Amino acid sequence: MSYLVLARKYRPRTFADMVGQEAITRLLAGAIGENRIGHAYLFSGPRGTGKTTTARIFAKALNCEQGPTPEPCGTCARCVACDAGNELDVIEIDAASNNGVDHVRSLREQVSYAPAAARFKVYIIDEVHMMSKGAFNALLKTLEEPPAHVKFLFATTELHKVPDTILSRCQVLRLSPIKPEHITRRLDQVFEAEAIRAEAGVTSEIAARSRGGMRDALSLADQLIAMAGDAPTLADIDRVGGGGPAGQMALLEHLASGARGALLERVAEQAGREGELVDGLLGALRSAIVALHCGAGSPLVEGDGEALARFAEGVGAARLEWWLGELLRTKDRMRFAPGLEGILVESTLLDLARPEEPADFGELLERLTALEARLGAATGAAPPGPAPARPVGADRGAASVPTAPAAAPTSAAASSAAPAPVRPQPQPAASPEPAAQAPRPVAPAPAKSPATPAPAPPAPAARAEPEPETEPAAEPEHVLEPAARRPPSPSEGFAAALALVENQRPSLAALLRRGRVTREGDRLTVALIEIDAEDRHLLDDTRSMGVARSALEQVFGERLDLVVVQADRRGEEPEPTDGFTAEVVDLFGGRIEDVRRSRP
Ligand SMILES: [Zn+2]
Repeated sequence: MSYLVLARKYRPRTFADMVGQEAITRLLAGAIGENRIGHAYLFSGPRGTGKTTTARIFAKALNCEQGPTPEPCGTCARCVACDAGNELDVIEIDAASNNGVDHVRSLREQVSYAPAAARFKVYIIDEVHMMSKGAFNALLKTLEEPPAHVKFLFATTELHKVPDTILSRCQVLRLSPIKPEHITRRLDQVFEAEAIRAEAGVTSEIAARSRGGMRDALSLADQLIAMAGDAPTLADIDRVGGGGPAGQMALLEHLASGARGALLERVAEQAGREGELVDGLLGALRSAIVALHCGAGSPLVEGDGEALARFAEGVGAARLEWWLGELLRTKDRMRFAPGLEGILVESTLLDLARPEEPADFGELLERLTALEARLGAATGAAPPGPAPARPVGADRGAASVPTAPAAAPTSAAASSAAPAPVRPQPQPAASPEPAAQAPRPVAPAPAKSPATPAPAPPAPAARAEPEPETEPAAEPEHVLEPAARRPPSPSEGFAAALALVENQRPSLAALLRRGRVTREGDRLTVALIEIDAEDRHLLDDTRSMGVARSALEQVFGERLDLVVVQADRRGEEPEPTDGFTAEVVDLFGGRIEDVRRSRP
């Protein structure tokens, strides 16, 4: 069922009808009145604020037989054709589905022909940021030398994705979110015209939930009328349009408690309106995160700040941010999968309802590297590197290593079955962040003796030479001392130096971190498997490399020559890129399955 009845029926047909965008309509009407009409305009703004509507009115104003006029007559052949959406010379293109270079090439051919009946051939290109790079380049040629009879009207929700070369050839008009009081006034007019007798406060409540979008407001009003008839109440609003704050809160609670059945039922109730459901959830999540960081009373929080803050504290920032990221990705994917929105939303929510955020091996490595860097940096009396942003539960870290032993067996049966002697060891005290949640034992509840640390931390397989910092006999507060006295190995010192470089030259630090490091005398050689043009640029920057060299000097206590070389790729299997990674692989008895390179 389509809920665009009111939005279509009450779509503005003149500049005067446009609500809340007076600055834009005045500017366009002025341009027509003074006959200084540009050949390309770009309307930018959030969804539902009137970008394409403004473009259509502008096209009509340009082509009206009485014009060009700021006030199109609405009765001439051109105006009627425009309003009916069948004007041959006003061509609307959705760049989201016609984003290729071929479409732009055929557009360029058509552009050269004179208009069929109207004064101007007007191209309205919606979601222009979705065009491919090649398509933008092809379009640019037309924008540079446009025929006098052609006007381009672009619309985008994401101005930053439109290349500067295009922007510089357009007049950019920014439409703001429409103020709630303007939306309320318009809804009051519409309800009066439709003989809807809503409870007091209904229209302002709809306006408050529409986040500045008139189309969303009218769509919500449509749903409300379809469900509640011609006398909708405030209570009815909660039952439509993403459920409103109460419905969103319930969804979040279902996610947190892993109530998958309830989640699926909610999605089914919102069939056909999955976009609104996701938008509503995103808004609620955002407010929950804001409430957590800025306090429940922050004016940035939309909705019940107290309830959101309580919820956010219970769930934790890491999980909320994970949800937010995944839902944003789902929202993006929904654009490319028309008809599959329901399945996409269902699968995402089922995934997010898992009790724990998955930690990957890369994340574990990152934390270990940061820890190592901090230990190494202590030698050079340098400040410790930044702690990892997201705390990871100890059990999750262990579970994500493919071949790591799950937990130290403590029952007699398990001990006798173990091939190598394994003993529980205490966690190193220098863990950079406390675990977010209490670790859960992975193995089925073993019998606990008082002496057994519970729950058991991940225990490495038996090793010939235990490192001093994991020696069980060491008191936690002495853990740092042996590490601090030990001169850093090349890989340790290098990691520590990179932690220092990170602050000033993050790209360089990320690049060097990919390398395998060896030391020969006072020369430190970093071998990189791939060096592309961008990398080369970083490495040729003498000031950046100077930062790296002085960091090395700080850590190693002596001046070292830093040489970066390109290494040959040996074999297809990923292998440890440095001694430290090799040590980690050895420590967990694992192997590297995948190497993901990340660059900030
Ligand atoms: Zn007209």
